[in-house]
Amino acid sequence: MAARMFAAGRSGGGQFTQERGIEWPSQPVRSRVGRCNSVFRHPPTPRRIPRENMSHTVRFKVALTCTYCGSPNPANAVHLYTSSFGQDPVDAELSLGGIIELELLDFADGFYTLQPPAVDVSAVAAVELWGCSSCDRMQPVRLDFRRVERDFWRLESVSPVALTPEALANVHYLSRKLEEYAPGPNEPPGFLGELRARLEASTPGHRPG
Ligand SMILES: [Zn+2]
Repeated sequence: MAARMFAAGRSGGGQFTQERGIEWPSQPVRSRVGRCNSVFRHPPTPRRIPRENMSHTVRFKVALTCTYCGSPNPANAVHLYTSSFGQDPVDAELSLGGIIELELLDFADGFYTLQPPAVDVSAVAAVELWGCSSCDRMQPVRLDFRRVERDFWRLESVSPVALTPEALANVHYLSRKLEEYAPGPNEPPGFLGELRARLEASTPGHRPG
């Protein structure tokens, strides 16, 4: 019986009838999306992706020079982004010094958590991987965010970093693209393997979408 009711609810596309015998809340449950939209402060933007397929990406617009081939990657073309980061229905672009609305929970969605910051932390650091448009090599950069209001953060700096225990000692969040990464010349390969095993085991199925 329970299975049949569940199937009916799924196929009913939101039409719930009395014959199912379920007391449905008179008010719809507020979703995270609804909650965040209520404080949406950006100018209205045409929706580009379907609402049910929300996988919000933040694209960082920062000029970077490739560590391997030396090619300049201009800010408007650099492949530096974090997926499932934030709750806006459209992708966002963030330049150096720019401000973005994010909850700490959003950082934990977009990145693996190396060490959770305090709720009232004034700054967080995340390491993301970017790909050179000339040689395709992935390489890590450290993103430093300064809190300017409860849920508003300024991107203060973006700097090359190595995936070593020392460099990650004071980093809160780490890229979820680790499986695409091959260690660089000064990075211990064993450390990357340990990181992957630890982080993937610690956050099973946490990533939305
Ligand atoms: Zn390159």
